[in-house]
Amino acid sequence: RKMVGKLTTGCTEFDEMMGGGIETQAITELYGEFGSGKTQLAHQLAVNVQMDREHGGLNGSVIIIDTENTFRPERIAQMVKGLSEKYGMELDPEEFLQNIHVARAYNSNHQILLVESATDLANELRDMGKPVRLLIVDSLMAHFRAEYVGRGTLADRQQKLNKHMHGLLRFGDLFNACVVVTNQVMAKPDAFFGDPTRPVGGHVVGHTATFRLYLRKSKGDKRIIRLVDSPNLPEGEAVIAVTTAGLTD
Ligand code: ATP
Ligand code: MG
Repeated sequence: RKMVGKLTTGCTEFDEMMGGGIETQAITELYGEFGSGKTQLAHQLAVNVQMDREHGGLNGSVIIIDTENTFRPERIAQMVKGLSEKYGMELDPEEFLQNIHVARAYNSNHQILLVESATDLANELRDMGKPVRLLIVDSLMAHFRAEYVGRGTLADRQQKLNKHMHGLLRFGDLFNACVVVTNQVMAKPDAFFGDPTRPVGGHVVGHTATFRLYLRKSKGDKRIIRLVDSPNLPEGEAVIAVTTAGLTD
């Protein structure tokens, strides 16, 4: 087993809550309502992972499985500019964009297949300067939710989802990579549990994700991130800000 790596979020409190950063060889689930910052954090991690270890990165490249067409290259450029200013370095947004491999998933079957393609690509890049150290699925459940409606189909859905989650875990282990998935919350209070802040995906996602982070909006550009589930860290909360330059304290 390789040594677990930690990827900085760029936010001091958040990193501290995570015991140093987002871990490799684990699935970290980001869940929260629309606009809570899940996709923003995913973009920021796609930039941060490319930095050297001194700057909290993993010297790696990233694969993004994009199910909702929310990846924005312009946003990456803004964040790279933000890091250039933060560290007083000249960083080239184009170089960063070249190390972000985005695949659009058209349905849940395709999404599952893309993890296999990601594995092939990561094998190709393995001995290159920037091996893949981060795999993002944004959003994990959107297709599954849309395709499997009604109680009768739930068992099928959970079986496929289970396969998908294990493919993701395997990827994280194989490449000593962080795996980050985003998830929505139930729109309405659940009839059984009555809690509107429960993530979608039920037990399968809940048990396979190593770290679960609940994001919620606060005043202005502030967001509160709560560590809900972790094998080795206490629960806690961290405040971050989503700014043009990226995620900050
Ligand atoms: P969804 O569930 O709809 O996918 P999400 O949690 O992924 O939501 P994000 O897309 O991460 O939400 O967050 C969107 C918010 O991020 C915007 O409402 C805005 O507050 C902030 N944001 C996005 N782009 C910028 C930017 N360039 N500068 C500053 N803030 C931004
Ligand atoms: Mg989003």
